[in-house]
Amino acid sequence: MTCRFFLITLMLVMPTAQALTLDSTPVPGGIAIVTLPDDVDPASTRYRDKKILVTDIDGKAAAIIGLSLGTKPGRHFLQAKNNQGAPLKIAFKVEPKSYEEQRITIKDKRKVNPEKRDMDRIVREKESITRALRHWSDAGAVDLSFDYPVDGPTSSPFGLRRFFNEQPRKPHSGLDIAAAEGTPIRAPAAGTVIETGDYFFNGKTVFIDHGQGLVTMYCHMSAIDVEPGTVVKAGDPIGKIGMTGRVTGPHLHWGVSLNDARIDPLLFLPPRPDTSAQAVTK
Ligand SMILES: [Zn+2]
Repeated sequence: MTCRFFLITLMLVMPTAQALTLDSTPVPGGIAIVTLPDDVDPASTRYRDKKILVTDIDGKAAAIIGLSLGTKPGRHFLQAKNNQGAPLKIAFKVEPKSYEEQRITIKDKRKVNPEKRDMDRIVREKESITRALRHWSDAGAVDLSFDYPVDGPTSSPFGLRRFFNEQPRKPHSGLDIAAAEGTPIRAPAAGTVIETGDYFFNGKTVFIDHGQGLVTMYCHMSAIDVEPGTVVKAGDPIGKIGMTGRVTGPHLHWGVSLNDARIDPLLFLPPRPDTSAQAVTK
């Protein structure tokens, strides 16, 4: 007992690691970290015809590739060119991963089966959301170590296979953190706000571009405190927790997109020993 108490105390006083803690998790919804051969031109790398993030890890250029939930396990390839301009392929393997089911009852039936008059709005909004998530900006150094954007328990993890009112819908493409309405939401890393909106499903939403195809998204806010063009640093307030859009209670839906693939935000976060034990799945 004494020994266990000592261990816990030790964990609480240990400083947070500052180095890149990102692990390669090559599964659907994860990231593959692929070290590039020396003769590859980093700017030429593509995955599924999309530009990808390249960063320096231990003195070597490495591609960090987002893998969407629909990615098929097996061999995948990066396309690239060598320094002489000759095309080449770099193979990496994607492993399978299965996610749990989640069944939710939504009282506002229009948010599950939208009416005809809602469809124009939904289609228009989908275009602007897709455009924001596909945003690319060149950036030398991209901060890949995030802080939590809000304090609170995980109310719904990433990747759940979802049923709304018993009807199958797209899997959960972000992480839900529950908090009281009005709680400030903070930027998890430096970036630039590229879009804000008030959407049918996502409610009041902010998109932050962190560079090289890494874009984060914050939904269901009660208030938005930034506008397109606002430059933020880690910890800056961007809005407040709310329950706008399709929700069952106040929470933040936090999405992370890399090369237009929605991936698990937890991959960019340090372990949170104080609240992880309280994680609940609704
Ligand atoms: Zn969510």
